[in-house]
Amino acid sequence: MITLTKLPFAENVIEPFLSAETIQCHYGKHHTGYVNKLNELIKGTEFDKMSLAAIIRGADGPIFNNAAQIFNHSFYWSCLGENSSAPEGKLLEKIDNDFGSLEALKEEFIKMGTTLFGSGWVWLVREPKGELMIKQTSNAHTPLSSNLIPIFVCDVWEHAYYIDYRNARPDYLKEFWEHINWELASQIYAKTDTELLIGVEPCSDIHDLFCQLLDEIQAGDRVTS
Ligand code: MN
Repeated sequence: MITLTKLPFAENVIEPFLSAETIQCHYGKHHTGYVNKLNELIKGTEFDKMSLAAIIRGADGPIFNNAAQIFNHSFYWSCLGENSSAPEGKLLEKIDNDFGSLEALKEEFIKMGTTLFGSGWVWLVREPKGELMIKQTSNAHTPLSSNLIPIFVCDVWEHAYYIDYRNARPDYLKEFWEHINWELASQIYAKTDTELLIGVEPCSDIHDLFCQLLDEIQAGDRVTS
């Protein structure tokens, strides 16, 4: 049984970036729908007692799609900040090193989000050797399936922005950039910047560790209002 994670902020506090109507529909209908559907699909199967990360690694077809969408959405909500912030410490240094500047990362991230064809997600990830990169994934696909640690993500399915931005995906991406929870991103980067987490094989325990880390960070820092 997989449970729906709580929204880490009240549904109207990130307006006008995202309206309460968008949150009600996106979280209340889409994200909730994936949780209900997955629980229906895994009932009585080998996946019934597994963690979400294990289901994502072990399943394909509809079970994979619903499980991956649940992780992607939970992570997306945690990546959104109520107030604007900025990357700190090691993460900022690494961004300067790998992209040239924060501004250059922003430009590239918005470009990648805009050019992703169809439905999907655009991520800042760190790859196994520690480099930061921007990655597009289509439909439900998630870096948890490969050996990549997500730093933050933007949902570019139309359901994420159509109520507030109609077809103007670049405008949504620009506003997203102003609402990144850099505190969380900086913490993920700092805590995973260890030899233990770099260079491990795909489908090892890294993602369970990542999920634990995320739980820990969220439990410590985010207040549900
Ligand atoms: Mn979505």
